[in-house]
Amino acid sequence: MFADLHLHTNFSDGTYTPEELTAQGKRFGFRALALSDHDTVEGCVRMATACSAADIEFIPATELTAELDGNELHLLGYFIDTTNAKLLVELARFQEVRQNRIREMVARIQNLNVPLREETVFEIANCRAPGRPHVARALVKAGLCKNLDEAFERFLKKDRPAWVPKFKMSAPQAVELIHHAGGLAVMAHPGLNNCDDLIPALAECGLDGLECYHTKHAAAQAYHYQKIAEQLGLLVTGGSDCHGLSKGRPLIGGVKLPYWRVEEMKKLLAKRVTRPTQANLQSAT
Ligand code: AMP
Ligand code: FE
Ligand code: FE
Ligand code: ZN
Repeated sequence: MFADLHLHTNFSDGTYTPEELTAQGKRFGFRALALSDHDTVEGCVRMATACSAADIEFIPATELTAELDGNELHLLGYFIDTTNAKLLVELARFQEVRQNRIREMVARIQNLNVPLREETVFEIANCRAPGRPHVARALVKAGLCKNLDEAFERFLKKDRPAWVPKFKMSAPQAVELIHHAGGLAVMAHPGLNNCDDLIPALAECGLDGLECYHTKHAAAQAYHYQKIAEQLGLLVTGGSDCHGLSKGRPLIGGVKLPYWRVEEMKKLLAKRVTRPTQANLQSAT
């Protein structure tokens, strides 16, 4: 029994719909799937329905971009309440920033005499949480770049001419927001962030786990992060980070987290649920 806890749909920068993603998960025999779209939980309702019909356990999640000591890192929030008011307000704010960032990126590309239209990007994105992959797809569709790699290399990678920094919440604030929404906070793909030295401080701030298994982690890296997780008493999670067909071959099926790791996550959550206080009990009667 296995789980994939890092997946994207077309509600952010993936290409699969929640139903298509669920069907892929079923094909690989997953027991549990988590949808972790960037800065949105909109796909979770449909994914939950599709998973339920396919007899797969669904875990609502999101992937937030955060910052610590000048480093960008991604935080996954698992088992969040997707109706939590504060979470939804913050996500709406991130989405607005993302949309403005697209406008800024397109303006910079136009300044280089590359005639990309803003509408082309928004049509392709067709979601509230657009990102660089949508700009890249629009550049390819408009015949302005040969492929996505060229779009990132010429324009979109960090420090390339159309790269616009993303507003980032501080990592401790992101952990707090995830906890406020009843979730577990997990550092995504630490092997891609180059900030191992920040993990102990984040653990002090309440970080719950490390995504040790990830498509881009070599076996030695997965082992390395498992050791760190063990030392700091953090959960071990994993996922493919599948974006559908956007990057060639879909990645789902490539990372299989043993299901007992999901049970460990649920045990920690169950411990955290606050016992009803006397006042709560009285108001309930
Ligand atoms: P954004 O959130 O808008 O900064 O875009 C980040 C997303 O772009 C990541 O989640 C990846 O899906 C994708 N990405 C980042 N770098 C590259 C690259 N060099 N080639 C293709 N996709 C990339
Ligand atoms: Fe992405
Ligand atoms: Fe990420
Ligand atoms: Zn991701």
